[in-house]
Amino acid sequence: MSPPAANPTQSLWLRIGWLIDGLGGPVQHNVAMAVHDGRIAAIGPDTDAGAAGALDLSRVTVLPALMDAHVHLAFSGTVDPQARSAQLNAAPEAVRAAVARHLRDQWQCGVVAVRDGGDRGGEVLHCKRHCPPPVEQAITVFSPGWAWHAFGRYGTMIGRHPQEGQTLADALAPYLPAIDHLKLLQSGINSLARCGPQGGPQFSGTDLRVAIRAAHAAGKPVMVHANGDIAVRMALEAGCDSIEHGYFMGPDNLRRMADQSVTWVPTAIPMAALAKARGLTQQQKDIARRTLDHQLDQIRQARDLGVPIALGTDAGGQGVHHGHAVRQELRLLMTAGLSLSQAIRCATRNAAHLMGLQDRGALAPGHRADFIAVPGPPDRLPEGLATIQSIHLSGRSCEPTCGL
Ligand SMILES: [Zn+2]
Repeated sequence: MSPPAANPTQSLWLRIGWLIDGLGGPVQHNVAMAVHDGRIAAIGPDTDAGAAGALDLSRVTVLPALMDAHVHLAFSGTVDPQARSAQLNAAPEAVRAAVARHLRDQWQCGVVAVRDGGDRGGEVLHCKRHCPPPVEQAITVFSPGWAWHAFGRYGTMIGRHPQEGQTLADALAPYLPAIDHLKLLQSGINSLARCGPQGGPQFSGTDLRVAIRAAHAAGKPVMVHANGDIAVRMALEAGCDSIEHGYFMGPDNLRRMADQSVTWVPTAIPMAALAKARGLTQQQKDIARRTLDHQLDQIRQARDLGVPIALGTDAGGQGVHHGHAVRQELRLLMTAGLSLSQAIRCATRNAAHLMGLQDRGALAPGHRADFIAVPGPPDRLPEGLATIQSIHLSGRSCEPTCGL
């Protein structure tokens, strides 16, 4: 492949040592990539050894810029109980400063798009609309504002509930125009007292169906937090777009997801963090470890069944740090049995698809030239993502520390 003849100010020619395309294909070696007007024009074997003016990435692994499909930007991953409680009750200004910090953390780890899962004050949505810090211009943020839970059930930390006599659809209707997606909570969270799903579903099938239909009519996708067979099945029957967590959902639900092409965001890293958290009893850590092992087994089944998996970390949870958690989750996906390319696909193409970013998340002609460069061959990944050499947005190169 030869360099493009187009206007050199708009065109970029790269010589790449190793390329991971984000589509799950094998790692390609010695590749040339042409970028024009911020988009990938062509990719092919690097046969033109004398190409002048090419950006030399021949000792580097290039992959699409990363995305995290489940974060809580309002919270840090601190494990200090006092700090966790303080951030739950923080003033809006403090939450907004935290959001800016966490976006910087994501950026430094090569993350360029995040899908938020909600916060009590809806501050992430407010930040997005009213006070974008410099780095947020580089990171695409999708926010539901608040997560919706049933009165008296799990979710007060991150959301709201319908008032007495109000249906779920009635309660959320005024918010639909402003949000990027709807977040519903249909189960509790994992217990550290007993390994297995906790509690019954939060909303009735009718409530879920009507709310999801209203969101879709407004053009908003719906993410549903659901653990356990029944909660996940109800969310799938109601027509949700993604299942978040999905612990203990069981093989029948995995088959349904494959059939309906519903994306799963398994968020394994929070359980891995709890399995080694200080301050927990040995029994609690053992339950977290068994819960994690069960989830990794479900991920392997999902791979075999063809369930679309998008990487999400639940960053902001206890011991789950913005940005860093992405490479930890990549490692867990690989522990479950995904290849490096398959795991990267979860954090790139599949996450982009879930966020509606159709021209991003893959290194293929026509896609936006958003990629990261990591020194050395790919056998150092995903841990090697700790030392990103450069981040490129629409072909433009930035240091991981730029704009901070
Ligand atoms: Zn979450």
